[in-house]
This record gives sequence, C-alpha cells and structure tokens, in this order.
Amino acid sequence: MEKQLKKQQWKFFIQNFIAFASLFICLGLIIFQLLQISMYQDVDNQLLEMSENDQRLEEFLRLPNPTKDQKNPQIKPPSDFQIQFILRASDGTIVNEGDLGNRIKEYQNLTWSADNLDEVKTTTITAEDGGKLIFRTLTKELSAEFQDKYEPVSYLQLIVNTNQLEDTIQRMKWLLIICMFFFFAVAVALSFWLSQKSIQPIHKSLQQQQLFVSDASHELRSPLTIIQSKLELLLTKPYEQIIDESENIAVALNETQRLTQLTSDLLTLTQSDAGGVQLVNETLDLPQFLLKVVEPYQELAVLQEKVFEFGELLPMTLTIDEKKLHQVLVTLLDNALKYTQTGDKIALSVEKYKEKLRIKLADTGCGISRESQPYIFNRFYREDQSRNRKTGGYGLGLAIAKELVEMQQGQLLFQENNPKGSIFIIELNQT
Ligand code: ADP
Repeated sequence: MEKQLKKQQWKFFIQNFIAFASLFICLGLIIFQLLQISMYQDVDNQLLEMSENDQRLEEFLRLPNPTKDQKNPQIKPPSDFQIQFILRASDGTIVNEGDLGNRIKEYQNLTWSADNLDEVKTTTITAEDGGKLIFRTLTKELSAEFQDKYEPVSYLQLIVNTNQLEDTIQRMKWLLIICMFFFFAVAVALSFWLSQKSIQPIHKSLQQQQLFVSDASHELRSPLTIIQSKLELLLTKPYEQIIDESENIAVALNETQRLTQLTSDLLTLTQSDAGGVQLVNETLDLPQFLLKVVEPYQELAVLQEKVFEFGELLPMTLTIDEKKLHQVLVTLLDNALKYTQTGDKIALSVEKYKEKLRIKLADTGCGISRESQPYIFNRFYREDQSRNRKTGGYGLGLAIAKELVEMQQGQLLFQENNPKGSIFIIELNQT
C-alpha cells in the first residue's frame, strides 16, 4: 500500500510539475512576445507615420523647391533622427549615395524589392567589420507628383538600425531564461508540496480503513472463538441431552446474536463510507413518534427500577428518514439504560435552539470521563473495555448514530449532565 501511495504521490508530482512548467513557459513566451512587439512597435509606428505623411517627408527630405531638371538633388535626412532615408530609382539604385556616408557600402547590400511595399520588415546585413546589422525597413513608392518633382527618385526606403533594440531583447531573453530556471525550481518545490498535500487525505483514510479492518477482524474473532470452543465442547459430549448443555448452547447463541449485530453495524458503516446509504424522508409527528420509540425502553427502565421522565415535547412535524432517526434514538436509549444504575433518571425532551431542533436524552448514570469525551464517537471506542464486555457493546453504536445524524445534515452532540451523567443531543435543521 505504502508503495502504491508513493507511486500515486510521484504521479501527482509529475502532473503538478507539468502543469506549473507549462504555465510558466506559456507566461514566459507571452511576456517575451509582448516585450518584442512593444519594443518594435515604436520603431514600426515611426516608420509608418513617416511614410504616410508626405508633408513631413518633404520637410525631412529638405528639398527646397527643386526643379524638374535637377538630376542629383541634395537630399539629406535630418541628422537628429534615427530613420535613414534611402531614395531609390525605379531599378532600385540608390540615388542619395552622398547623404549616406561611409555606410553606403553596407546599405548597398540591403535587400530591396518593389513587391513588398508599405510593409515593415526586418533585414539583416553583414557590416564591413563582419558584425551583423539589423534593420527595420519600409519601402514606399512615391506619388506621381513626388516622382515628377524629384526624378529619378521612384521609391523611398526608410530604415532604422535596430541592433541596440536586438541587444536589449537578447538580454531580456537571457534574463527570462534565467527566471525560467528559478521558476522551474519553484515549480518543483510547489509540485512536491502539493503532491504531499493531496496524498495526505488518501493516506489518512487508508490508515483509518486499515485500523477499521483490523479492529473489525479483532472484534469478529472473539465471538467466533467462543462459538468454536463451545461447539467443540459439545462435540466431545455426543450423548449428552441438550438440556444438560443448555448453558453452553445459550452462550454460543448469544455470541451469534452479537456477531449478527456486529456484521450489520459494519455493513452500515461501510455503506455510509461508500455513500451508499439512501435516505427515505417522510413527514412525521415528532412527539407521537418519540413516544412510540421510547415505550419499550420506558418499560425496561421501570423493570430496572430507573426513572424515565419526559421533558417538554414540542408539538411539531419533521421531515426526516424515520428508520434512521429510530436507529439513532435506540442506540442512545440503549446506552442510557446500559450506563445507568438503579434509581438513576433518564429524561427525554425536545427544544428549539437557534433555529434548530434539539432532541435531548439526559441520564444521571456514570457519565463519560473528560479524557474519553473526544473519542466516544470514534469507531470501536469504548471507555472501559471490561465494563463494555459486560454490557456487550462494540463501540460502534455512537459512531453509526453520528453518521446517521450527519447524513440528515444534523449533529450528534455530547454534554456532561449536572451533577453527573451524560446528555446526548440530536440537533436537526427544522424542516
Ligand atoms: P457501546 O456499544 O460500547 O456502548 P457506543 O458507541 O454506543 O458503544 O458507545 C461508546 C462508548 O461511549 C461506550 O463504550 C461508553 O463508554 C460511552 N457511552 C455511551 N453512552 C453513554 C452513556 N449514556 N453514559 C455513559 N457512557 C456512555
């Protein structure tokens, strides 16, 4: 089992890690893309803006009223602006070589095509020193008016060197990769923690289940041993009359009855654990129902010289699973009789408490010690082993009663009685 749990935890860990890692990778990629887009956006916007604004173009081109016959116009890009202007003739040759300074050789290598006009693109060329030069470029066909004015200029290619931007983006990329490693480490830690957290309830319920099975088999073993020994004893006396062995037979029968009760209790608990208990709700007249359930116990109390009293029984109807409520009351009444002495009092009452309904069964019996109180609703818990052997309980009654009450969205509570004894309260929602 432990091995299987470890395997399950490992599985949870891998699943969590994959989820976290994919999340971090997606986030990283999105951040990187957004960063790249936003960094290039300014440049691209400037290029587009510049290409669309003929008036500004003319300003920047600084062409003071050129005449048609001016063959080699003095075209200078504004020196404080990072956009370079390359004027090309219709065949692509650069017209404003003089304005482009020593970079002209490199610019000659710039790819140019009259096909992809008005689109911002990235172009990379090799500089003279062997380095890479990266540009965002946009080529625009000048209007007929411009072409007329500044012949032989046909195309304007706007270029911006983005090496610095690329450097920044590369730095960001590495920074993001380093962050990713950090986040992966976080993902490993988180996944491990989560896998441990998710395995905890399974581990706990498995432990409870193992405890339950071992307690149950332990409890099943003792009546079976008694029955077996009694039967073996009877087998050694084949010629005896039944009447002579009636005591042994009665003990075996008694143990069989206990066994039947125990197996039915175990079945109820396993069904309730599996969520297989169906509620059959019906409306019942509460005082009438209580009087009917209590009647045989009242008679038993009289026989045992105990006093059975009724407190206030609020006249009301209740929608509830009658059989289950009956079973809970029987468990409590049974215990009240088991754990009280001659002369003790048992009292049943119904009261309203903060919008809830409380069915109270109080007794003046031996009560439950403070140390045992937190455990009395646990399966197989008995306050005193020897005393309970005598009273015949397995410590399952209250555990089952609690589950049955909780199934009806209620609560089974315990209070100490004053000056001695116990009070069990079935608290239900009023419906
Ligand atoms: P059991 O079958 O042993 O009575 P229960 O689950 O009904 O099992 O009760 C668990 C334990 O709680 C009992 O063994 C007993 O010690 C204690 N208990 C239950 N009801 C009372 C009560 N009315 N007075 C004193 N002790 C009680």
